[in-house]
Order: sequence, then C-alpha cells, then structure tokens
Amino acid sequence: MATREIPFRDRRIETAPRAVIEWMQLDGLRRQIDNALKTEYYRPKLLAAGITSSDDIKTLDDIRRVPFTTKGDLREAYPFGLLAVPKSDVVRVHASSGTTGTPTVIYLTQRDLDLASDTMARSLTAAGGNKNDIIQNMMTYGLFTGGLGFHYGAELMGAMVIPTSSGNTLRQLKFMKDFGTTMVHATPSYLLHLHAAIEAEGYRRDDLKLRMAITGAEPHSEELRRKIEEKLGIEVYNCYGMSEMNGPGVAFECVFRAGMHAWEDRYIVEILDPETFEPVPEGEIGELVLTILCRDAMPLLRYRTRDLTRFIPGPCACGRTHRRLARFTGRTDDMLIINGVNVFPSQIEEVLLKTKGVGANYFIIAEKSGDLDKLTVQVEITPEMFADDARVINALRDRLKSEMSALITINPVMEIKQPGSLPVSEGKAKRVDDRRPKD
Ligand code: AMP
Ligand code: ZN
Repeated sequence: MATREIPFRDRRIETAPRAVIEWMQLDGLRRQIDNALKTEYYRPKLLAAGITSSDDIKTLDDIRRVPFTTKGDLREAYPFGLLAVPKSDVVRVHASSGTTGTPTVIYLTQRDLDLASDTMARSLTAAGGNKNDIIQNMMTYGLFTGGLGFHYGAELMGAMVIPTSSGNTLRQLKFMKDFGTTMVHATPSYLLHLHAAIEAEGYRRDDLKLRMAITGAEPHSEELRRKIEEKLGIEVYNCYGMSEMNGPGVAFECVFRAGMHAWEDRYIVEILDPETFEPVPEGEIGELVLTILCRDAMPLLRYRTRDLTRFIPGPCACGRTHRRLARFTGRTDDMLIINGVNVFPSQIEEVLLKTKGVGANYFIIAEKSGDLDKLTVQVEITPEMFADDARVINALRDRLKSEMSALITINPVMEIKQPGSLPVSEGKAKRVDDRRPKD
C-alpha cells in the first residue's frame, strides 16, 4: 500500500490543518443558522433557544445551544416547512428509502446539487476511482439517493456510468461482461448474491474486469467485507450516507480502508451519548449527529441520525485530516434495513391496524434467504375471519401484501395465523425478531 499513489480530488481541503477545517465549519454553521431562521419550521425553535441570528454563534462550541432535529421534525415540516429558498430555486427532490405515510424529503438548488456531486466525486477519488472507470450503479434509481446521488458524482469524476439500478441480476452480469465494468455500487448482501449468480451462470473471472465495489446502505462487518473481497477477487470500500444529508458519500474510505473519512468541511460531525446528549469520550461509541453545511435549499441542524459509531483516533496514513468513522454497529431505534431499504415496524403495524379482519397480534421476522434479506410478517386474524372459507383468507393475504409493498416498497412474506397463536401484545411485547447473523 505504501508504494501506491494517494489520490485526491482537492488535496488542499482534504489535508487542511484542523484549525482551517474548524474555521470552515464555524463559517458554515453561521450561514446555516441564518438560513434556518428563514424557514417556517426552524425559526420559532431557534428563537426559543435564544438564537436570533448567526451573531449568537461565536465559536463551534456554541453548536451546543442549537436544538436537535429528528426524522419526526422532517415529517412535521413536510412538505415545505424547511425550505429556505424560493421554490423556484429548487431543482431536485429526494427522499429516504422506504416510505411511511409522510416521507422525509430534501430539496436541492443547482448549487447544492453541484456540491453534493462534488462530495461524491471526492469520495470515489479517495477510494481510488478515476475517469477510466466503468461504473455500474446497482442501487435503486428514483427518490432514493443511492441511485441519482451516486450517479452524478461518478459522472463528475469523469467515469462512464451505467445506471442499471437494482435487481435483474442476469442483465447486470451481461452488462458487466459486455461493457467491462470495473466498479459496482451495491449493498453488501447484493454483492454476495451477485457472486452466487456469477458462479451459477458459469462466468469465469477473466470474463469480468471488476476491480472494486462501493458498498453501503446497511451495516456490515469487516468479516463480511473480507468474504466479498475474497469471493469476487476485488477491493470493497465502505460508504456511509443518508438521504437527509444528500445521500452517499458523507463519509468514505480512502485507499487505506481503515475507517471512513467524514467530510468535515461539508458536515459538522458530533458523536453524542444518546441519553445525555453530551459528547462521548474520543473513540467511544455514540450516536452520530450531523449538521449539513453544503446545502442552501434546506438546512438540517444537529440531525440525530440514530446510527451508532465512533471516531477512529489518530491520523490516517493517507494524510487526510478529516476524522474517520468506524463501521456502524447498529441504531438507537428499531428501524430494520431490509436489502438496503429502511423499514420501521410501526409502518407495518399501520397497515395491519387499518385492515378489517386482522386481529390484535403480529410478529415480524427478518432473516437471511440465501444471501439476501427476507422479511416475514405473521399476523393473527379475527375469530370471525377465521370462520370464513380459504378464499376470503387468501384475499386478505393478497390485500395485505399489496398494501405493504405500496407503503414500505418491499414485499414481505405474509403468514396468516389463527387467533391466539402469537405472543400477546401486552406490556413490552417483543414484536420483531431479527435472526440475521450479526456478521
Ligand atoms: P437512506 O436515507 O435511505 O439512504 O438510509 C440511510 C441509512 O442507511 C443510514 O441512516 C444508516 O442507518 C444506513 N446506512 C447507510 N450507509 C451505511 C453504511 N455504510 N453502514 C451502515 N449503515 C449504513
Ligand atoms: Zn485515509
């Protein structure tokens, strides 16, 4: 590795002294505060916290006076409560993967979009990507940022981008072979699935030019990374991001693959104790809280990601001064990530509760089916429904299936159970069993 040239998109910023990064952060925070004061949603909250203009923010430590923002706030502010520019300046809208009744939506101006693409291009360059790469993006295109957010950054870097989107593995393989794809972007589980298909279809290693994969959207271990690398004979890079923060590339591994550099000129990164909201001691695990500095259309101040991670202490061999985040170890809420799609048990409950014939109890099982995730929803039906014939019960199952897929964008297996057969929902009933191995 030492002999390998270390690639940069913007060496000056990526290796800036900490004092310079912190100066950029303070300047950015002050701009975001003025911006937030223009929005319907933040204005009363900031005034209540005694912040009337950016003049109230004198040092980076003053961020501790700024109230937190949650996913719930985004939903409450839907559709335009967090907009800080005239609607006519917005050129793009994105939303979180999976949906609930009210999606969490972000807006970008052309400048915001250019900066988001630049952040992504910087990330890909740090990982060793370049304009000669042929990149197949296997993440879903649409509102989810893993598609378009990644795409624009890869194009900006100058690579040839093939927007195959997710699924249709045989077609993915054909494109990989015919175009000589050198890099793919996919979830870790899909990469394993892809490998199984490569073997099943009889492709030889020489048929493919693949050299690296960018992976993210769901937690995965170092062991799983190594397994994918060995199976596919490539290098795998971890990429963290979320739609609320413009998508993938908030933090990214450099060629040393020893933690993800969080781009601190574009985000203020805090790791806090989720109970006390005090910063955890350096190197300890806490909740990641992010403030975006590179977006005019929609400020998000101290956004509680619910994702758990820690800072990796010490400098990185690449020379970058932006701090590194360790692999994510989980979340502080009950959100499940099924094949890269966020699913909240409460969304499933919402569908069940409003459907006639569904009883009081349900149970959700997440498990592996081959290399992919499988979600099963077991649901009791009412005694009246149970007395009906099989056709009525099948119709109920079909209806639940289609309503689930409309609301959570994935298709769970629906199992209809007889009344009284599932754990009772009193007190702290355990309604979710995540049986997937933690590796
Ligand atoms: P979305 O807004 O749909 O892009 O989902 C963002 C969420 O996906 C994050 O809050 C994380 O929980 C998860 N996520 C994204 N990238 C990673 C990663 N590299 N490792 C672990 N979890 C990730
Ligand atoms: Zn590095």
